[in-house]
Amino acid sequence: MALDWQSLRIEGIYRQPVEGFGMLRIKLPAGVLSAPQARGIAAIAASFARGALHLTTRGSIELHWVREEDLAAVKGSLAALGLTSRGACGGAVRGITCAGRGSVGFPQVESLARRLQRQFTGNPRFERLPKKFKIGIFADAADRGHLIQDVGLVPQGSGYDVWIAGGLGRDPQAGFLLEEQVTEGRIIPLIEAILLVYAAHAPAGKRLKHVVREMGEGALRELIAAQPFASEELSPPAGLPDHFVPALPDFGRLEAPVFGGELPGDGLVRLAGFAEKWGGGWLLVTADQNVAFHLTGDDAAPRQELATLGFGGEGRAEQICFRICPGSHECRMGLAPTRDLARQVIAGMGPVAGVARWAVSGCPNSCAQPQIADFGILASGLVKGDDGSRSPRFQLYRNQAEGLGEVMSSNLSTEELLDAVRSLG
Ligand code: SF4
Repeated sequence: MALDWQSLRIEGIYRQPVEGFGMLRIKLPAGVLSAPQARGIAAIAASFARGALHLTTRGSIELHWVREEDLAAVKGSLAALGLTSRGACGGAVRGITCAGRGSVGFPQVESLARRLQRQFTGNPRFERLPKKFKIGIFADAADRGHLIQDVGLVPQGSGYDVWIAGGLGRDPQAGFLLEEQVTEGRIIPLIEAILLVYAAHAPAGKRLKHVVREMGEGALRELIAAQPFASEELSPPAGLPDHFVPALPDFGRLEAPVFGGELPGDGLVRLAGFAEKWGGGWLLVTADQNVAFHLTGDDAAPRQELATLGFGGEGRAEQICFRICPGSHECRMGLAPTRDLARQVIAGMGPVAGVARWAVSGCPNSCAQPQIADFGILASGLVKGDDGSRSPRFQLYRNQAEGLGEVMSSNLSTEELLDAVRSLG
């Protein structure tokens, strides 16, 4: 019997471009995983996913090319590691992403991300949403990541500023500030209130940004405030701490660059060993698709060891901050081979462009978030040539101010795009 791929989305599974294969996305709260979990994921990748994995811009890990008959076994293997893909695709609350380079407040952020994931993952009240619902916590608002979430939290004073109704895709929209300095005890009830309004007022297939566009900010605020939990304050959780990554800033942080988030399983195994030796046993998948460590000692020796493990970042591609979605390499929606394109772009760019933050998305869904990079490339469509072949067309974005980036040029062929990048200096 043919698989019902649509019904599998709630398990974090998408169909891939080749018949019989699926992608499974593992949710990591705040992008954190332990060294044993990393080794376990590498072993699953070796058995079921061609030995490789993909680090996403939301701090999740994707396993591509899993045969449909192996999906249940992969789910079981992940459960044995204390990991889940539940709700990583489909109309559910997605993995709780977290960004902010080397934030000293990371323990607080990690704790909140774990509580949010526990609250919303596998909870049937929040699994039949009109579309995906993204929550992110951003220690550094300059990254602009809070603007593109359904709920974006920015630590502020003794609480969090709560931004809502942002999103990218075909109609990008920056979120707006719903409330300032919301205490941590109110965060879960307030998000529940937002989710209830979203579920009741968004048509199927639409995000929260659609609701605010239809009814206006004022009406949405009133509806959220009228929900029974909107002002509830929960007591601080009892028990042991929910954070495990060593706190900064005692010794600092190191990052292993991973071009386009494409990491072979044996690379993850090496990084797991590194984490045990120097990072308290914990790894962080970053929003730039790298793996970071909070060091438990001076950074000179670990920096040297990371280089000997093959993560010294000597290559030009690893030195440029480049977020890259899987594109047509692995995604059914992909219009362009994003990693190949990124390598071409890097080869042609001058020193000025090389110090900027870049992103390449293989279709208008914008998974690499090109609208919040300094420069973004988005495959916007395909054109048919005289010989019947199809070639991608691109938009080039630039972000020079607050908010989302603006389109500099549209409908560019690959050659025109490369010329445009070269002219950036
Ligand atoms: S942006 Fe498009 S091509 Fe890239 S991963 Fe997302 S859906 Fe796939």
